[in-house]
Amino acid sequence: MSYPHGAELYRGKAKTVYATDDADLLLMHFRDDTSAFDGEKKAALQRKGMVNNHINAFIMTRLAQAGVPTHFVRLVGPQDSLVRRLDMVPVECVVRNVAAGSLVRRLGVTEGLVLDPPLYELFLKNDALHDPMISEDHALAFGWASAAELKRMRELSLKVNAVLKPLFEAAGITLVDYKLEFGRHGGEVLLGDEFTPDGCRLWDAGSGERLDKDRFRRDLGGVVEAYEEVARRLGVDLPAAG
Ligand code: ADP
Ligand code: UDP
Repeated sequence: MSYPHGAELYRGKAKTVYATDDADLLLMHFRDDTSAFDGEKKAALQRKGMVNNHINAFIMTRLAQAGVPTHFVRLVGPQDSLVRRLDMVPVECVVRNVAAGSLVRRLGVTEGLVLDPPLYELFLKNDALHDPMISEDHALAFGWASAAELKRMRELSLKVNAVLKPLFEAAGITLVDYKLEFGRHGGEVLLGDEFTPDGCRLWDAGSGERLDKDRFRRDLGGVVEAYEEVARRLGVDLPAAG
């Protein structure tokens, strides 16, 4: 890693988080590891960490410019970014523009059904329990987030959609759904974690071809190539292949 860092604080399924000499800043390292089905299926995909780090930096910068407060500070290496340390809310916020994935399995609705206005759902971030769906009342009852935090998370999740749906559309890509994580920082709620093809569904607007982690989940192959295609279409600068 190209940035001076301290102790490893957390090793997740796809990223490792390190302390730095500034207590307010963390180094987020995007590994080449990929996982699905709560970590049951795993693989290492060359270049994925680098591609995701750069897509995330691009998206987080666009969101910040549009007024969504994020933890992202700057890129500090091919697979590394500096972020503000957040007290994470253990809730995953999912926004859906088109029915797919667990929504289709849960409710039996047709995949591809357009959801307008978009659908907003909450899930508890807990692999052992397979990230069960929850309501805002569950989050309140068990102290996972306050009413004000939940209101802000919903508002920011939908603002992200207002920014990113047209951004992807202009690149010939349908933003089907995505997962966001938020955290607390100095009394404010900031967008944390990542926005990459690992945490959203992206379909080619013309052919419907999957350009996201479903390629890995469904053994379609060409996972990183699809992520690189997303980067190319968005105009993300990637370091040349070494
Ligand atoms: P997972 O925990 O789902 O396996 P990752 O491999 O992506 O996920 O690990 C990244 C971890 O870092 C996640 O648990 C995420 O909630 C946490 N995280 C993301 N952004 C921040 C931040 N700014 N401050 C503290 N923790 C963060
Ligand atoms: N998602 C994610 N991490 C999770 C659960 C979901 O990044 O732990 C993303 C997923 O990639 C998709 C969206 O959130 O873009 C909605 O996921 P869904 O509820 O359909 O679950 P899935 O079938 O993908 O497990």
